[in-house]
Amino acid sequence: MNQNKLFHLTRVRLALWYALVMAFILSLCGFGVYKAVSHAHWVALDRELESVAGTLHDSIELKLQQPGRLEPVVKELLPNICVVGDECVKKQLHVQRHTLGAVNQGFYYVRFFDNSGRLVAIAGLAPEGLSSNFNKQRWQTLKDSKGKLYHQVSFVLHTQDNRDWGYIQVGRSLSDFNSYLDAVKLILALGLPVVMALVGSASWWLAGLAMRPIYRSYRQIQQFTADAAHELRTPLAATEATVESALLMPKLDEQEVRDILRSIQRQNHRLTTLVADLLLLARLDRQSMSLRPELCCLNDVINDLIEEFAAMSNAAGVMLTSSVRVHQPVNVIGDCEQLYRLVSNLIVNAIQYTPRGGQVTVVLDRSDHYAVIQVQDTGIGIPHHELSQIFYRFYRVHGDRSRSSGGSGLGLAIAMAIVQAHQGNLKVQSELGKGSIFTVELPYNGLPLKSFCTLGPLKVLYGRQGKGV
Ligand code: ADP
Repeated sequence: MNQNKLFHLTRVRLALWYALVMAFILSLCGFGVYKAVSHAHWVALDRELESVAGTLHDSIELKLQQPGRLEPVVKELLPNICVVGDECVKKQLHVQRHTLGAVNQGFYYVRFFDNSGRLVAIAGLAPEGLSSNFNKQRWQTLKDSKGKLYHQVSFVLHTQDNRDWGYIQVGRSLSDFNSYLDAVKLILALGLPVVMALVGSASWWLAGLAMRPIYRSYRQIQQFTADAAHELRTPLAATEATVESALLMPKLDEQEVRDILRSIQRQNHRLTTLVADLLLLARLDRQSMSLRPELCCLNDVINDLIEEFAAMSNAAGVMLTSSVRVHQPVNVIGDCEQLYRLVSNLIVNAIQYTPRGGQVTVVLDRSDHYAVIQVQDTGIGIPHHELSQIFYRFYRVHGDRSRSSGGSGLGLAIAMAIVQAHQGNLKVQSELGKGSIFTVELPYNGLPLKSFCTLGPLKVLYGRQGKGV
């Protein structure tokens, strides 16, 4: 499948999954909000009903004398009360007038039952078809014949002399309550698609954002593969050409054979170095796996390197010196072999890119948290706009020059990878035509200041490495 298509498909899938998960979470939240609102309303409603019923109960109970009989004074408290048997009950059932004297609200009804559970009187709203059979349960939710819901509470009534009078039942229509909940449901139902549309576009955008680094790294790998193939092809093609031309020659004397073999050896060496560099980078990419931490004395590393590259700098007509700006030895915990490689890459570059008569200085210093190594040269310098790219794999500023000197374009990438594996920093300052300064900062990693350098020559341990030196 075309890679772009694959990335697009992955983005669509990611966005869809994200939107689905968000939809599920939002629906759960919506349901939760609805439940919380409904619960809060039920609690408020129960409290309201209890307080209305309690007030009525208390004020009526004081006036009751005979069980099951409503005193006229009670009728004054509830002006629209109708005693069963009177005409007004039927009238009320049809006219549905509802002014409850005690609370003056249109949603309430009050019913009185005697001790045997017979309806005695009714006041306020008269729900049509609501069962008049008494049920002793304190809280009840009932339906009338039209399917409207009512919520009611029942209390026992006593006479003044503390005999059981019967029961008072105060109920309330749930129509306002239900229409409020319907409105909440409607808002949630209408709001959800709008929110989902927003979530959909946000998911698309976020999926794109998440895919970006993957896409970038995929491009880098593609570029890296192409560059590596190109670098490998160059020495292979040169070897092939050498062999081909040798085979075409009718006769070869010993000197010619030697020259041909030397040329093949050179190309082979270049290939070996390149493959070793690539393997090292791959190992460093896995970071900790490739590090062998030990106590590393940077003074010794630098002394050994100065000694090792003396011949090379002499041949290039460049003066190579070191400058140690601290009196105590500078130690770090790290992989000495890698650190040696790191500084050697910088020194080789400095010598290679410094014309005859120039100077390369390796400085050892320390700051509060870092051991600092600087490789300074008075060479050709690097254009400002290329400074950020020189650490990329296979990137070369001076393409031909670096190739002819055997550089693979991996030296600084390796140096950077080693520094990063040691949690350090590698920075560069450069001025075109004047020179460059590469600064390595390596953390002490909790190492006490007072440690000693014991090393013999590192180069014996690690040998000459990389950069086609
Ligand atoms: P190479 O193997 O080509 O030297 P590096 O990764 O070591 O690759 O360096 C990348 C590029 O950075 C080089 O091709 C060179 O153009 C530039 N460069 C590195 N060090 C220096 C330096 N000290 N002075 C000038 N240019 C440098």
